[in-house]
Amino acid sequence: MSVVLENLTVSYQRHPAVHHVSGEFADGEATAIFGPNGAGKSTLLKAMVGALRPDSGRAVMSHRRADIAYLPQQSEIDRSLPITVEDLVLSGLWHRSGAFGGVGRDGRMRVAEALATVGLSEFARRPIAALSSGQFQRVLFARILVQDARLILLDEPFNAVDAKTTYDLLALVRRWRAEGRTVIAVLHDYEQVHAYFPYTLLMAREVVAWGKTETVLTDANLRRAVERAAHWQDRAPVCRVDGEAA
Ligand code: ADP
Ligand code: MG
Repeated sequence: MSVVLENLTVSYQRHPAVHHVSGEFADGEATAIFGPNGAGKSTLLKAMVGALRPDSGRAVMSHRRADIAYLPQQSEIDRSLPITVEDLVLSGLWHRSGAFGGVGRDGRMRVAEALATVGLSEFARRPIAALSSGQFQRVLFARILVQDARLILLDEPFNAVDAKTTYDLLALVRRWRAEGRTVIAVLHDYEQVHAYFPYTLLMAREVVAWGKTETVLTDANLRRAVERAAHWQDRAPVCRVDGEAA
C-alpha cells in the first residue's frame, strides 16, 4: 500500500493553500501533520479524500475508496442530524452493505463491539445531538472501527476533547499502528506527536520537513514554519497555471 503526494497544489480562488507538496507517507505507520494555523493541513486531507480538486499534481493512493476513513475537524461536522449513535456508527458499514442494503446481525454485532471498545455501550440509542464533544469523538472512532479501513485520516481529532478521552483514543491509534494500518493525523500537541507518531510532516503551505518525528520537530524547523506563517497576513499569491507562484 502506498500514499504518495506528487507536486500537489490546492488553491481557493487560485490562492494556494497547499503548494508543491511532494512526498510519501510511511506505509503501515502513524504520521502526524504539524504546522501553524492556516498551514493547509485540512486542505491537504480534503484533497487526499477527493473533496477538493488539486490545481496541479496529485495524491496517489493504492487503497480502494472503501479502505479510507476520514474524520474531518469537529467544527465541520453537523451534529444536529436527527440520528442515533448506533445509526452513525452503522454508517461506517455502508461501503459493504450499500446505503439501503440490509446490515444484518453481523453488522449490528460489530457496531456493539465498537461502541464497547470506545466505552459507549449504553449510548447506542442516544441522539448524537445529546453527546459531549468527547463522547461524539468516541462515536466517530467507533465508526472508523467498524469501517475497518487500512488508511485512516484524522483532522485535529483531539480538539475540544477531554484528557481521558484523548488518552483512550490515542490507545486506538496505537492499536491501528500495531495492526499495520496507516494513520495520518493533524495534531497540535507536541508531546502527543512524540509519543504516538514516529513520523511527522511539518508544513506551512509547503513542506518544511518530512520524516522521522525527532528529526522533523527541531527548534530550527519549527521556527522556519512559524516564520513562513508570519508572512500570511496577505493572501498567498495567485498560483499560475505552470504551478509557480506569481
Ligand atoms: P489548517 O488546517 O492548516 O489550519 P486550512 O487548510 O484550513 O489550514 O487553510 C489553509 C488556508 O486556506 C488558510 O489561509 C485558509 O484561510 C484558506 N481556506 C481554507 N478553507 C477555505 C475556503 N473554503 N475558502 C477560501 N479559503 C479557504
Ligand atoms: Mg485545519
